[in-house]
Amino acid sequence: AIQIEGLHKSFGDVHVLTGCDLTVRPGEVAVLVGPSGSGKSTLLRCINQLEEASAGRVRIEGVTQGYAEQPLADGRWQKLSAKQIAAQRARIGMVFQRFQLFPHMTALHNVMEAPVHVLGMEKAQAESEARELLARVGLAERADHYPSELSGGQQQRVAIARALAMKPELMLFDEPTSALDPELVAEVLAVLQDLAADGMTMVVVTHEMGFAREVADTVVFMDEGRIIEQGPPAQVIDSPRSDRLKDFLASVL
Ligand code: ATP
Ligand code: MG
Repeated sequence: AIQIEGLHKSFGDVHVLTGCDLTVRPGEVAVLVGPSGSGKSTLLRCINQLEEASAGRVRIEGVTQGYAEQPLADGRWQKLSAKQIAAQRARIGMVFQRFQLFPHMTALHNVMEAPVHVLGMEKAQAESEARELLARVGLAERADHYPSELSGGQQQRVAIARALAMKPELMLFDEPTSALDPELVAEVLAVLQDLAADGMTMVVVTHEMGFAREVADTVVFMDEGRIIEQGPPAQVIDSPRSDRLKDFLASVL
C-alpha cells in the first residue's frame, strides 16, 4: 500500500505540490491524470524519493520514506542516510516516458544488470529470471537484441522487465506510452494490464482514458499541485463534479 499524507513540494519559491493525500491499497491501480504542469511527475518522484518532499509523508507498506521510524528524543524526525534511502528506493520500480535502456547491452543484459550489480545475484540465476521476465512481456525471442534493434514498444517492455527484475513491491509509471507511435501503445498497456491482474500495486500517469476506465481502481485528477477529485473510473470519468475536470476530460476524450 501507498499512503501519502499532506505532501508538499516546492522548488525554490515555486510551490508545486500543495497538500496531496492519496491512499493506494495493496494490489490496486491508481491512474493519475491532469493537465501539463499539474504535478503528476513530481508526485511520482516524491513517492520514490527522486525528490525530497518539503512537507508531509509517504508510507510504503507501512514504512515511512526518507525518515527513521521513530522520532528522536527531542521529537524531531531523523532523516535516513543516502544508503538507507537507496535501499527504500530499490523496493519501488519506475518506468518513464522515454526508455532509458543501456544502449550497449542486449535486452537480456539490461534486465540482469541490477539484480547482479545491486543485489549481488548469481549471474546464472539472474539470467534465468531475466529470461522469464522477458517472456512475460512477450519478448522471449528478443533477449539477445540491442535496444537499437527493438521498436519503441519493445524497448519499453524491456524497461518494464528491467524494473520487475528487482522484485519491486510497487510500480510507478510516468506516461509509459506517450513517446510511442500509436500502433505500439496497446502492446505496452497490455503488459500493464497483465501486471495489474497479477496483483501489482501501481500508480500510472497516463492520458489513455480507455486504460483508466478498464484497469484503474481509482482515477486521481490533479490540477495545480492538488488532487481535485478521486474515485472509481465510473465516477471520475463519467460523472466529473468540477469544471476543471470536465474541461480536462473534454481535452483528452
Ligand atoms: P506533464 O503532464 O507536462 O508531464 P506534470 O503534471 O508531470 O506535467 P510536473 O513535471 O510534476 O508536472 O511539474 C509540475 C510543476 O513543477 C511545473 O510547473 C514544473 O515547471 C515544476 N517543476 C518540476 N520540476 C521542477 C524542478 N526540478 N525545478 C523547478 N520546477 C520544477
Ligand atoms: Mg509529467
